[in-house]
Amino acid sequence: MKKLWLLLCLVLISPALFLSGCGEEQALNSYALVLTYDDETKSAQGACAVDYVNTSNNAFDSVLFHLYPNAFSQEGEGLVCSTSNEAKTYPNGKSYGGIEITSVKVGGSEAEYSVEGEAGMLLNVKLLQQLFPDERVKIEIDFVLILPNANHRFGYGDNAVNFGNFYPIACVYEEGEGFMDEGYIANGDPFYSNVANYSVTVSYPKNFKIACSGDNLKTGENGQYLTTTFNANNVRDVSFVLSQNFNVVSAKSGDCQIDYYYYDDADPQGSLGTAVKAVQFYGKSFGEYPYSSLAVVQTNFVHGGMEYPRLVMIADTVSGVDYDYVIAHEIAHQWWYGVVGNDEYHEAWLDESLTEFSTALFFENYTEYNISYNQIISGAEENYKFFLQIYDKIQGEVDSSMLRALNEFSTEPEYVNNIYTRGILLFDTLRSEIGDKKLLSTLKGYYKEFAYQNVSSSEFIAYFSSKAGRNLEKFFDSWLNGKVEFVYV
Ligand SMILES: [Zn+2]
Repeated sequence: MKKLWLLLCLVLISPALFLSGCGEEQALNSYALVLTYDDETKSAQGACAVDYVNTSNNAFDSVLFHLYPNAFSQEGEGLVCSTSNEAKTYPNGKSYGGIEITSVKVGGSEAEYSVEGEAGMLLNVKLLQQLFPDERVKIEIDFVLILPNANHRFGYGDNAVNFGNFYPIACVYEEGEGFMDEGYIANGDPFYSNVANYSVTVSYPKNFKIACSGDNLKTGENGQYLTTTFNANNVRDVSFVLSQNFNVVSAKSGDCQIDYYYYDDADPQGSLGTAVKAVQFYGKSFGEYPYSSLAVVQTNFVHGGMEYPRLVMIADTVSGVDYDYVIAHEIAHQWWYGVVGNDEYHEAWLDESLTEFSTALFFENYTEYNISYNQIISGAEENYKFFLQIYDKIQGEVDSSMLRALNEFSTEPEYVNNIYTRGILLFDTLRSEIGDKKLLSTLKGYYKEFAYQNVSSSEFIAYFSSKAGRNLEKFFDSWLNGKVEFVYV
């Protein structure tokens, strides 16, 4: 996600399906989603059939799924946005939504299940018999979605309906930890998932257009509805946006089709051009973009933008060069979070800080935007120093650690300044320490080595140390754990 602290602003601020190309074969879950959206009631009927595989070393009695839409329910009060963002999120007043589970089958038979956890954000599906390592089981979940009137990942606004994090998605299972069941929180992107294969069928009223995160196989007419089917393989999530107002312009970057959906943009070709340059630049710098399409979607959204594999949301409230900045930032996430994944709840810096740094590299390369790399870095230094001073004054101390869970950041500015601002400074310092050539070759190797996997901070540090030819543990420790208090004094 891109929070708009940006630039010069001084806000404080199936059958077995396998991966290929990363050298390892890994069994994947396979999702078939069918959804019908009713615009009158702002609701959707859905069915999610998961061909689920146990990739752990343990036998499972049950499988846990995230029900993120329930963060938008009344019980989830305060989970989706900070108090300061409420007016932007709910311009027409507070509105609630959620997901109701209506039926669960396992292997074709009705199964026991329970909706659990904070605000009912977890679905626990009891298996009829133990699922042993490498075994598969079919889990079918029927549900009803109620969309909130909210400018958020999940919800409808004046111009578009966002379907982000909208379906039951399997929690990642970690050896020694179990299912990773953390819920929603207003800071950051509280998501963590494994790559999977998806087939999605969406029906929606005829007067809407759809922007989706996959290969649009076909769209057919069915009475008053259109039905679109799209596929996406080796992705860690799927999403789509509906709007009655979408215009579309398209271009190619190599074999990748880039579609820009917009309803309020005086220079759509310029925005599309930024997206194309971003895909080209990151592809050249870090490694090829592996998917055949990317949707860049203008929509109603409380923050600057939001990334999903093969689809990025760009807020319609952003304008000017900030708009290009958000496009470049969200597209960098296709590499960091999309292809190379991580636990965004516990180790947000891994994708967010690297994405912010990658965005600075983009603007260093394309001088026509008049945002220089040095300007970005010096702006970050100023913002970070300002943050330290203010927090020191207000609280008598500052927590400048980056490596903590999202719920351990006490305020939004504390999160933004440590993860984005301190994060970009970390990578700028690393650049000075190991040099441009080494840094870029290491990022290329990192992308290739960990494509479609989830990386931990310790794996990241070990990889960078091995490629830099020196132990970088102390370097990362001082940055990540906040031991260097005033780095730029
Ligand atoms: Zn981001």
